[in-house]
Amino acid sequence: MQLPIDLRSDTVTRPTPAMRAAMAAAEVGDDVFGEDPTVRQLEARVAEMLGKEAALFVTSGTMGNQLGLRVHCQPGDEFICEANCHIHNYEQAAYAQLFGLAVQPIEGEFGVLRVEQLIDRIRPANDHHVRTRLVCLENTHNRGAGRIQPIDDVAEICGWAAEHGLARHLDGARLFNAVAATGISAGEWAAHFDTVSVCFSKGLGAPVGSALCGPAELIRQARRHRKALGGGMRQAGIIAAGALYALEHHIDRLTVDHANARHLAEAIRHTPGLKLNPSSVETNIVIFDVDRELGTAAAFGARLRDEGVWLNTVAPQRLRAVTHLDVSREQVEQATRILSKTAEEVAAVAR
Ligand SMILES: *Cc1c(COP(=O)(O)O)cnc(C)c1O
Repeated sequence: MQLPIDLRSDTVTRPTPAMRAAMAAAEVGDDVFGEDPTVRQLEARVAEMLGKEAALFVTSGTMGNQLGLRVHCQPGDEFICEANCHIHNYEQAAYAQLFGLAVQPIEGEFGVLRVEQLIDRIRPANDHHVRTRLVCLENTHNRGAGRIQPIDDVAEICGWAAEHGLARHLDGARLFNAVAATGISAGEWAAHFDTVSVCFSKGLGAPVGSALCGPAELIRQARRHRKALGGGMRQAGIIAAGALYALEHHIDRLTVDHANARHLAEAIRHTPGLKLNPSSVETNIVIFDVDRELGTAAAFGARLRDEGVWLNTVAPQRLRAVTHLDVSREQVEQATRILSKTAEEVAAVAR
């Protein structure tokens, strides 16, 4: 059995031989001059899939999101988002550091917001307040253990936001996981938003890159801001080719990752001392609590690592496992055996 089994994140995937071949064969040019045909092809393809006028290839999901915020907001503006979202928790508050924006976080249930929570959150237009300009959602939700924001709630929230003159941005780093899990197309999800960022380097398995999609005029502005942030890339067709390959070949197979995550979740559900949190798994992320009897999540995680199973500690008593392209069903089954056995051994010593 191939060890280690790296379940820390779906970012750890490496390009497959076929993807590498596509990258090696990519036609390239200087993309700052707008002359890289493969980048252009990728941007056209992802814009088409999301039903948007234009797209911009960017270095990371963080850059895609931050450019999204930047094109909707001016200094002294505020955006509303879910309290545990990536934009607010894992991007160094770049919107504040770089753009002078404020945030109004609202806590959802495992990342999922309902429109009732947003009503009355738009600040009155007077000189005491920042200006509320934008609503951001995240789908699937990372810290919400890969939860899907239901399409009806997306429609309600975005409809309400539009009615009140607020722009809508979707952090769709894992939008294609939601697509694979629900059968609802990327275009149907994206239709509710002005701008959408998607990642190629998560479950899709490309080595680098994300895209920001939206109206041509906003994407033109984003392109300008991208250059200011140092995100103008030259012969980026080499990496865009990996992303194009991923869009073509790695979306439908995300259901395999989801089945693997459910398999892992079933084993955790039946292991004394471990508890799924939330209790159900919708996509490729499994989060679970470690009973204090088994020690801290970090200590238990270190034991597992010694056995060849790598997980991520997300809270003092909480671990996360993410399934992806580079873990096979056999490896997931092996991981579940190691998990149960290690929990039993640690518990036996504790008793
Ligand atoms: C990973 C991720 C991002 C982007 O992360 P980068 O490391 O900057 O590519 C954005 N949003 C969510 C929800 C993510 O999980």
